Amino acid sequence: MGGLGDLRGFLNELRRRGAIREFKEPVAIEEAYRFIRSNPGAVAIFEDVRGYDLKIATGICGSRELIAAAIGIEPAALHGALNEAMRNPLEPGEANSAAFSEAEPDLSHLPIARYYPRDGGPYISSAIVSAKSPDGSIENVSIHRMMVLDRRRLAIRIVPRHLFRLCEMARASGSRSLPIGVAIGLHPSVLLAASSPAPFGVSEYAVANRLMGGGLRLAELGNSTRVPFDAEIAMEGEISLEELEDEGPFVDLTGTYDIVRRQPVVRIDKVYKRDGAIYHALLPGGPEHAILMGLPYEARIREAVAAAVPTVKDVRLTPGGCCWLHAVISIEKQADGDGKNALLAAFAAHPSLKHAVVVDSDIDISDPAAVEWAIATRFQGDRDLIIIRGARGSSLDPSADQESLTTTKLGFDATRPMSKPRDKFLRAGSG
Ligand code: MN
Repeated sequence: MGGLGDLRGFLNELRRRGAIREFKEPVAIEEAYRFIRSNPGAVAIFEDVRGYDLKIATGICGSRELIAAAIGIEPAALHGALNEAMRNPLEPGEANSAAFSEAEPDLSHLPIARYYPRDGGPYISSAIVSAKSPDGSIENVSIHRMMVLDRRRLAIRIVPRHLFRLCEMARASGSRSLPIGVAIGLHPSVLLAASSPAPFGVSEYAVANRLMGGGLRLAELGNSTRVPFDAEIAMEGEISLEELEDEGPFVDLTGTYDIVRRQPVVRIDKVYKRDGAIYHALLPGGPEHAILMGLPYEARIREAVAAAVPTVKDVRLTPGGCCWLHAVISIEKQADGDGKNALLAAFAAHPSLKHAVVVDSDIDISDPAAVEWAIATRFQGDRDLIIIRGARGSSLDPSADQESLTTTKLGFDATRPMSKPRDKFLRAGSG
């Protein structure tokens, strides 16, 4: 499947495999969103949404198997492919013309709705936002939730990362706004790359293009920002550096409501759509959200742990830990202390990480019961636990100190002690 660069190609492949539920009958937008909310992880497309000329697709990035299929690799190769793409980004080509054409610039024509009843407003949760530095030398692409304020305006949540930095650079150069390109309805590789911790200065489009084996092509919009030429929906607009609005509340990765904040306003100038455009509805707190955020950080943790303990076997940010706050790492232990070194490397690689467990390579880390078994039979709290108080934590964790965002981190070294006979710790009938 590698080389098929757009969302439609991937959806066709899912249809061929019978891996997508197709709703061909007309549905009301509320019905579609109720289905999405009640069936987290369902892969589905609503072909006929009453009152809209767009389809709604959901769930397409909701598992590591789906993402791997989209890229055309095995799930076990995902970490390596992501790390390789971040190390060797490849500048995409430019398309002669875009697959989309201009539509009326009116957000009410897009099938955007509230995912949960208490949401602050209708939300876009699957859009990438691309922007450049004032001299055009740096491009950034990232995913931001955007709440519809009216037909032409959105409130955008911007955490102090790369887009924030571009806003500050624009402000310092005397601008009152930052031009942006927005795209919705994208190949999973583009969404995954836009979620990756590529360093500032590396365009996530180049990371996506490497993941896609050079298959990504971009179109330049009137304001010089770039979007994938085959995006289902593209928008041209700007982030105001002066105007703020209340943004939220919104359900975040933990499945709990985030707080309301004053956030920048986006003004939309132009909207483009493909014929029969597909709107990607991405359930906040659902599996797509978790996999897209977690997978790139698993890859990063794996690389960091490998530098400390060369025999790392696998890494998971676990679903129970929201694919963000809890990690399990398996290693081929060579010496006492390897487990603790692996834990320290993992905490350094992913600042939001709160609890981490390291186990031996005979433990299947995708099985929570197997991990618990390792803790039950190979872990002693006085000897194998690391406690780090007052460390920087995740703003998503409601139990963290919400003022200072500090948290207590725990590392569980559930590997076998080297000094005791190996047999004593093996499950009968294994290895
Ligand atoms: Mn970036």
